[in-house]
Amino acid sequence: MTIEEVTVTGEWIRRGGTPAAPSTGRLRPLGLGEVTLRPGFWQRRRDVSRTASFAHIEHWLEKAGWLPNFDLPSGLRRGREFSDSEVYKFLEALAWADDPALEDRYRAIVARVAAAQQPDGYLNTNFGRPGQAARYSDLEWGHELYCHGHLIQAGVARARTHGHDDLVTVAVRAADHVCDTFGPDGIASVCGHAVIETALVELYRVTGDRRYLEQARLFIDRRGRPVLDDIEFGRAYFQDDVPIREARSLRGHAVRAVYLAAGAVDLAVETGDDGLLDAIDRQWRHAAARRTYLTGGIGSRHQDEAYGDDFVLPPDRAYQETCAGVGSIMLAWRLLLARGDARYADLIERILFNIIATSPADDGTRFFYANTLHQRVPGAEPAAGTQVPRAASSLRASWFAVSCCPTNLSRTFASLAAYVATSDDDGVQIHQYTPASITAGGVELDVDTAYPDDGRVTVRIVRTPDTPWTLALRIPGWATEATVDGIPAAPGYARITRRFVAGETIVLDLAVRPRVTVADPRIDAVRGSVAIERGPLVYCAESVDLPPGVALDTIRLEPGTDLVERDGAVIVTGRAVPVDDDAWPYAAPGVSDAGTAVEIPLYPYHRWARRGPSAMRVWIPTI
Ligand SMILES: [Zn+2]
Repeated sequence: MTIEEVTVTGEWIRRGGTPAAPSTGRLRPLGLGEVTLRPGFWQRRRDVSRTASFAHIEHWLEKAGWLPNFDLPSGLRRGREFSDSEVYKFLEALAWADDPALEDRYRAIVARVAAAQQPDGYLNTNFGRPGQAARYSDLEWGHELYCHGHLIQAGVARARTHGHDDLVTVAVRAADHVCDTFGPDGIASVCGHAVIETALVELYRVTGDRRYLEQARLFIDRRGRPVLDDIEFGRAYFQDDVPIREARSLRGHAVRAVYLAAGAVDLAVETGDDGLLDAIDRQWRHAAARRTYLTGGIGSRHQDEAYGDDFVLPPDRAYQETCAGVGSIMLAWRLLLARGDARYADLIERILFNIIATSPADDGTRFFYANTLHQRVPGAEPAAGTQVPRAASSLRASWFAVSCCPTNLSRTFASLAAYVATSDDDGVQIHQYTPASITAGGVELDVDTAYPDDGRVTVRIVRTPDTPWTLALRIPGWATEATVDGIPAAPGYARITRRFVAGETIVLDLAVRPRVTVADPRIDAVRGSVAIERGPLVYCAESVDLPPGVALDTIRLEPGTDLVERDGAVIVTGRAVPVDDDAWPYAAPGVSDAGTAVEIPLYPYHRWARRGPSAMRVWIPTI
């Protein structure tokens, strides 16, 4: 196939595009043109991303040299081996935003990227040029297919929002090069960092060219035989330890794990491979039940940014990379579309409110890379305009030498509206609650809510067919009390089937009030502690809110404590216990009721460290 022969389907362009567009499945995604966010929690954050974060990212891509790498001779290249991918993720964000005011900037970056593409479609600023290592000479760490994958994802986003243009051409040429080089007669290996798999399936969905689908299948089937060299973290780090269908759980480097699993779901759906889909679903359920933090975040090992073993979820070592949250949403969304189970949407909600909302600063120009759940001593804010190495910063930083998270957030915010609702032959399903207008076929809905502050969600029927259809509203797993138009509803989907009338409203009431949460006792690191949640939000205590002289690590809570709401906080009464900083820290068991009563205000975790450095904890000891 030549570039000229590639046709981009017009269907998604009309509907505004969508990330992940399976040709079959239990639920159908809606396009970004079919869901419009209205003023509220998410629209505010999406708009800050689109304005401030976009400008900030573009500034840093220039300043750090990662965009100039496409213009300059190889000897002047700067940045880590994967820095090209940050340019591509930003292009993907610009494509989803599809904002005419950003068009000139988008085209200028695409022109620089396109000019660096080699005649055979290869595109990477770190390999293959004079003075650089040969192409594909380091599949374990080189990230070349990973970078190609993000380039292709950006091209897919542009094709779905705009149609064929230069970036789509560059992406197709790169994909053809990948198929030529790693096809059945080519290099029989894979990339150390997955993402090419989902990118190729998505490009197949755009172009209809099965060669991309077959290449994705080759990459997924080859992995785990094993094909990559062993490394210091072990082959599980890049999921090359066992074949994907035989794995028991998601494991290894968290971002790699969820990107690969997302690609496997894409492949399974397009090829009708239920065995593969079952395998990923099983691994997802295992990881959700045993390897996921209260916030929905993943990754408890810093050394290799990896999943820990089952129940290894220490809050003070919570890595919870922001990118792993992004990838986990990608995976859960694909499983939701394939199978329609509310559990996937429940996890997406947790990640959105407790990871995606937490990472960026209010002004959109600083970011958490890792998201700890227990900061023992107040950190130091890196100076504005400086680059920090990676996750070492204890507070939000402007930019990182490994700056995957800011660009990943930008493409997530730009496509956020697509995760709100879906449709199927029976009607419309609303998965995430935010003020929005939703259009699906002949149905038009207005959603009004102050969620998550308030649990009332009002759905107004703006336009409806004259025939019965089903409105499905997700009742979150945390909602022990919920009603739809006054009728009690259990977690899962509440389905209302009838002939609706334009102008009528359906009212969902979720009992949003503070609650005490304990962990499975096998999560030993938080045994004897409690967390406070309210609706989908996890709360935390910060040292800046404690009375003078009370240290955060001396507070204790009674499990049956009153939870009082006041001024946006949940107030609990605990004790500040005496501590001896010089004593041997081990002693005979005993129970002490010593200590002085102290009032502790708790705020949503996503607000932490927005008032300067502080110590913080989500899990509070009761003993
Ligand atoms: Zn990241």
